[in-house]
Amino acid sequence: MDDFNSDIAVNGMRAELLGAVKALKEIVINQNSLTVGLKLGDKQQKIKKEKTVSGSKEELLKITSQEMGNCQLCPLAKTRKNLVFGAGNPEAKIVFVGEAPGADEDEQGIPFVGRAGQLLTDIIKAMGFQRKDVYICNILKCRPPGNRNPQPDEISKCEPFLKKQLQIISPKIICALGTFAAKTLLRTEIPISALRGRFHSYEGIKLMPTYHPAYLLRNPSAKKQVWEDVQMIMKEVKT
Ligand code: SF4
Repeated sequence: MDDFNSDIAVNGMRAELLGAVKALKEIVINQNSLTVGLKLGDKQQKIKKEKTVSGSKEELLKITSQEMGNCQLCPLAKTRKNLVFGAGNPEAKIVFVGEAPGADEDEQGIPFVGRAGQLLTDIIKAMGFQRKDVYICNILKCRPPGNRNPQPDEISKCEPFLKKQLQIISPKIICALGTFAAKTLLRTEIPISALRGRFHSYEGIKLMPTYHPAYLLRNPSAKKQVWEDVQMIMKEVKT
């Protein structure tokens, strides 16, 4: 091959090489922008999903509360002052379920605001939370007159509302406060003294039964056992 032809061949190869490098560069640039686009897309979708879930839980609880409206399903409707739906964080990892509203709760329409409520607030604080971090509700949404025990027909009429609340919030742990909450949720007749101290299961959610704060006001020595139970909850909620 003469010099001329040799130059042409070299120039040709150089041109081909430059073309290949250019094409390769474009592919790399396109891939990078595609990856960045995908990453942003995933992140944006995640944020959107979180916002949707958060909004929907709050919204769904509001709808459930509105559906209950001026519920007249059981005789307690005639004696209540206010229906006490529940309060707290719709995204809560822990839901406390008590028995029924007392006089203070009936007056204010908010769960656990009397002396027992103050003790529950103290327990929640000792766990390292605020009331706004958890969700608090009862088996019955209306006060039984004179704080008498809930009747089976009242529980069966009212329980679907609680079931719906728990389905919406879908917490990591339910803490059943007292005999009625524990027996109702666990469908058992075993006394609270034998149920407490270990986790049970409610529709796939871990449930810890413990003594009701009102019981603690009458039996302060039981605080030790409640503290043991809530420590197990704290440990579980961190895992
Ligand atoms: S206790 Fe429950 S079922 Fe009975 S009236 Fe109140 S909300 Fe309705």
